[in-house]
Amino acid sequence: MDAVNLLDYDLEGLTAFCEQLGEKRFRATQLFRWIHQKGATDFDQMSDLAKSLRSKLQGVATLKRLSVISEHMSSDGTIKWLFDVGGGNAVESVYIPEDDRATLCISSQAGCAVGCRFCSTGHQGFSRNLSTGEIVAQLWHAEHVLRQRLGTSDRIISNVVMMGMGEPLQNYSALVPALKVMLDDHGYGLSRRRVTVSTSGVVPMIDRLREDCPVALAVSLHAPTDPLRDQLVPLNKKYPIAELLAACNRYLDKAPRDFITFEYCMLQEVNDAPEQAHELVRLLKNKIGCKINLIPFNPFPASGLIRSTHPRVQAFAEVLIQAGIVTTVRKTRGDDIDAACGQLAGEVQDRTRAHIRMVRAPVTVAKSA
Ligand code: SF4
Repeated sequence: MDAVNLLDYDLEGLTAFCEQLGEKRFRATQLFRWIHQKGATDFDQMSDLAKSLRSKLQGVATLKRLSVISEHMSSDGTIKWLFDVGGGNAVESVYIPEDDRATLCISSQAGCAVGCRFCSTGHQGFSRNLSTGEIVAQLWHAEHVLRQRLGTSDRIISNVVMMGMGEPLQNYSALVPALKVMLDDHGYGLSRRRVTVSTSGVVPMIDRLREDCPVALAVSLHAPTDPLRDQLVPLNKKYPIAELLAACNRYLDKAPRDFITFEYCMLQEVNDAPEQAHELVRLLKNKIGCKINLIPFNPFPASGLIRSTHPRVQAFAEVLIQAGIVTTVRKTRGDDIDAACGQLAGEVQDRTRAHIRMVRAPVTVAKSA
């Protein structure tokens, strides 16, 4: 029998596992703290667990971390890790330090089936869902590797955004336990306001998340009308804008913030005209608590799209602001390491291929952790 990966469990799951081993429930809390708060990599490090339990765990359980294929640090401090998830698949996480917070952007799938036109992950296609352990391991890695490097036991990551590769709500059963690990006071202790799930609009799953684990919600909107959104976010054909906004309004009843963040990727002469900004105002103003995030498009050859010019972004933002809608224009971060939004996959695929070549010639394999 394969050893169980303990990173796959939230505290409830770990408690059930410990009970199966004939252990008391509080042992699960101890174990959980060792894994997520102290970053233990080996059961032998867990000094307050009975030796008998530690040796029991050696036989049946493991702490499966992700292998790092590469790490790149930007001149602005952003770090991008490319992780090997086996079978020739790789996913990325991006660490974004700012003055008052440190955000980790996490992937939920290898590839993505939604196929948004402006997203290089979408162009890559879908490989597979990540397990809970693979989602959590990205946070584990960033938190504990950085703590070690900085020589601190203080918490590093203050915010998590599920905005890396993949549509998190299409990997719901793995996502929710991973969110619970992030929120648990015995785990990473993040507040619900500081954990954001970003979705392209999987309406039934927005309703489920509202019941199961209502964290902050961001929605990839990108267009003010259905005909345009159908082209940019194909999922819109299944869940059109009116249904999506109704689900967002229902979500707000239980959300930790009183607004939904709408992401809007600025595409030159596609969705960035002032008239489209007015349509967006008509769509959202006084209809839903919201904040709009205008995102610079990160061009990749297969998209045939162009990043909006700065004056067009400013003019678009001005219309929204004048209408009283809180609007931010996202700064690009990690440009020199291709860590910006929607840039994760093209590079990943190339590097994955390179990695496969390296695996075939093991002498040259060089992993950074
Ligand atoms: S934007 Fe998100 S949902 Fe759309 S293809 Fe990219 S990863 Fe998938």
